[in-house]
Amino acid sequence: MNASRQFRNMTRAIYRVLRGLTALWLCSLVTLGGAFGQQPSWNWGGPLDPVQATFDITMVYLELEILPEEKAITGSATLSLEYVSDTDQLRFQLIDAYTVDRVEAEGVLLPFSHQSDLIDVRLGELRPGSVTIFYGGKTPIAVRPPWLGGFTWEKDDLGYHWMGLSSQNEGGKLFMPCLDHPKSKPKNGVQMRITVPEVYTVAANGLLKDSFVEHGKATFLWESSYPIMNYNINFTMGKFHREAKTFRSLSGYDIPMVVYVLEENKERAPLLLEVLDQSTRTHERFFGPFPFPKEKIAVVETPYLGMEHQTINAYGNNFQFVRMGEVWYDHLLHHELGHEWFGNKVSIADWSDYWIHEGITSYGDWLFYLQHEGEEAYHAKVADARKRIQNKKPVVSPPNSFSDEAYHSDVYAKGAYIIHSLRFLLGDERFFPLLKRIADQEAFTYENQVGTEELINFLERESGVELGPFLRRYLYEASLPTVKVSRKRKTHYQVSISGIDFSLPVEVKTHRGIERIELNKVPTNILSEVPIEVDPRNWYLLRK
Ligand SMILES: [Zn+2]
Repeated sequence: MNASRQFRNMTRAIYRVLRGLTALWLCSLVTLGGAFGQQPSWNWGGPLDPVQATFDITMVYLELEILPEEKAITGSATLSLEYVSDTDQLRFQLIDAYTVDRVEAEGVLLPFSHQSDLIDVRLGELRPGSVTIFYGGKTPIAVRPPWLGGFTWEKDDLGYHWMGLSSQNEGGKLFMPCLDHPKSKPKNGVQMRITVPEVYTVAANGLLKDSFVEHGKATFLWESSYPIMNYNINFTMGKFHREAKTFRSLSGYDIPMVVYVLEENKERAPLLLEVLDQSTRTHERFFGPFPFPKEKIAVVETPYLGMEHQTINAYGNNFQFVRMGEVWYDHLLHHELGHEWFGNKVSIADWSDYWIHEGITSYGDWLFYLQHEGEEAYHAKVADARKRIQNKKPVVSPPNSFSDEAYHSDVYAKGAYIIHSLRFLLGDERFFPLLKRIADQEAFTYENQVGTEELINFLERESGVELGPFLRRYLYEASLPTVKVSRKRKTHYQVSISGIDFSLPVEVKTHRGIERIELNKVPTNILSEVPIEVDPRNWYLLRK
């Protein structure tokens, strides 16, 4: 082994340890807005641009060549359009780092400008059904992926290029012209024709329709026909080993289940496939059938921790599987896979509602403990997550928030905890079927997006329980309700919860055992021969 190889391996080993440590923080990290590098810090969402309100993108077709030596991409994006109202102008986001060569529609070159990460196209009298934008250039380098995303260019241990792309908090403009707003979820999906040097494989969304080698270059044609959010459109390039099996879904579909790992990790692929199988089964049990049965359930090994790219989840957790009951578990893989239900199938249209993606998916992480190690392990996991809850910002941000405003650690653990409280409020017999029905609502899924208020109304209507006051209190207010216990006489206690305008059924431990008592801001008398304990199993977030 030569010195530079040794150095590279050492650097990679250190990187892997750091990545492992980062993994432990997955649910508690927040964006540190550009603190780690010189790159501009991008975000997306916010109020919808009035020009962009006049049209929808219904499909994306990317034709790109990846140039690993230059760390660049070059090619075109064809965006299919539907007009909402008349306009003689189109506006797309694409970062200034790329050069736009030309814009075409119906065989005509259209005048355009490209500045401040925006492409403005003047249509004149044309109202084309699609527009093609030719662009290319050096890619933005990810500063701290996936939190500060971009392209990650690495080399594997065999010296081959390995390229990953992440853009959750920055948006699709890091790699393609797009309508960079969460409300843009092209209903007819995405097609990609991606060319790379011959030795490499490209793993991307949907199904591989064709691949061929020509003049020393390999081309891959990927197609997904499901609606897809911008940041879920993804391609990863590497010298990959592919391993696959068939997964029989609850829906009755036989779905291809595929893992792409670096050649050097080939022997780990069978177990990774097994972990993916167990996680999919567990998610299906609680969230319902896998949402994209006509395509695939897949992960690709990435040079960053992970991301929920639709039907091709990024996996960079270095095969750190742990035993959970009778099965193997990888928390990173399980979490990203959970987003296929909450994030990819059930998607938000405003980053304010980020918790619907991250909170419910994080709750799905806790359910793996419940399913495979039982109630005690589930409660231990909940207690652990509880320690990280900040209660500094409301879970739901103001309407029309940008991604970086809305993204903070409480959208994960506090969002999940609120769902955990619902389990107690409703009881398992009502709660679990209701949880499963969320991802089964036409109004919330695929091209139809969901917001917090719609979800609250659904949960209230379907459960027949007035959940609104509870949910709004916890989702829109940062501070927690406070439990007050005062001892009036030796065996006489008064308990109230301040900061709520409704009654909450709460467990109270007395000398008789655990009782379920309705508590509110008015003191309730409780007799006990031993000091009482309010909510001893912590079903709620309460200041005690
Ligand atoms: Zn997540």
